[in-house]
Amino acid sequence: MKSRRYKIKIYCKRCGYHLFTYLKEGGEPQALKKCYIDNIIGDFTKDHMHCPECNEEFSHGETIIHGRRAYKISRSKVYVRR
Ligand SMILES: [Zn+2]
Repeated sequence: MKSRRYKIKIYCKRCGYHLFTYLKEGGEPQALKKCYIDNIIGDFTKDHMHCPECNEEFSHGETIIHGRRAYKISRSKVYVRR
């Protein structure tokens, strides 16, 4: 089954910096736990782990989920807008 994809923006909760623009595959936008790297369409970070503005660590780094490269996201460190 092909899931519907929609665009979301991911922001740093501490300072509001726009970190990623991302194509989410189904599910609720607030239930974000990971970002598949091939679905990131805008990357405004330097190292994919820290906010370049306030240096908050919003990701635990890279992992493999369902055979695809992804960044693990700390849900408490970000907020999401459609
Ligand atoms: Zn920040």
